[in-house]
Amino acid sequence: MGTMNSTSVQGDTAAARRSLEALALGDAFGERWFPLFRPPRQAYAEVRARRTPHEPVWHWTDDTALALALQRLLDEYGQVEQDRLALYYALAFDADQARGYGHGMHMLLPQLLTAPGDWRTLAPGLFEGGSLGNGAAMRVAPLGARFHADLGQVAEQAVLSAVVTHAHPQGVAGAVAVAVAAALSARGELALEAVAARTPEGPVREGVLRALEVPFATEPWKAADLLGNGSRIRADDTVPFALWTAARHQDDLEGALWATAEGFGDVDTTCAITGGVVGAATGIDAAPAEWLARREPLG
Ligand SMILES: [Mg+2]
Repeated sequence: MGTMNSTSVQGDTAAARRSLEALALGDAFGERWFPLFRPPRQAYAEVRARRTPHEPVWHWTDDTALALALQRLLDEYGQVEQDRLALYYALAFDADQARGYGHGMHMLLPQLLTAPGDWRTLAPGLFEGGSLGNGAAMRVAPLGARFHADLGQVAEQAVLSAVVTHAHPQGVAGAVAVAVAAALSARGELALEAVAARTPEGPVREGVLRALEVPFATEPWKAADLLGNGSRIRADDTVPFALWTAARHQDDLEGALWATAEGFGDVDTTCAITGGVVGAATGIDAAPAEWLARREPLG
């Protein structure tokens, strides 16, 4: 969907921006459903009734903060420069540590602020073998949208962006799956088969293949039961469901985010992933005006 005017050495920056805006909207919307903001029973009833969260400001979280850092890097350098990216991730963390970062990032990112190149030894040392959490997947959709003209480049750049913080092969695989999905979405070709075909072997890929077997007529909460909803904070428990709802609602960002919210679990992150993928095609223009007024702007 990119135009020649927006395609440059930096890739399709218009598609990247669409994806980033929708990622941030999904993150801010999804965060509203955490027990911190409303009891689970109430959250469940409100999501089922499609009742817009009443809070006047929906803040985005670490998903968006790190996606902004990656976007800045790619806008400036046109491709992933890993030491510089490590610094930008660390600067994002340092600017506001209360955005809901996971334990691993609280340990890693302050160290990268003073020695960004140390990601090479520090990231693989997290959790004995590197993090297999969602950090690399939740921030990467705009990268996939940007480089959609070349799926090989999408996968390669996604890997480079991941390993700076998430060195475990399944943390990386989650990023590749989401980036490829966003690229396909930007091309108007999103299909779970094609995502699985480009995802490295292992539990994330197996999860995407399982998602392929779940008919779109299935209620989203049932699909989340089958595929995982991110509550285990692992890429293979998070990415398959988020991509299933994205594929189920690939022309409808609002519908995609409601369906993803029905899974609860790590709901800011699942909604950030789904939003970034669907938004690569749709952008946020068709999202409800109330949502756009309430979500924290990207700045
Ligand atoms: Mg978050």
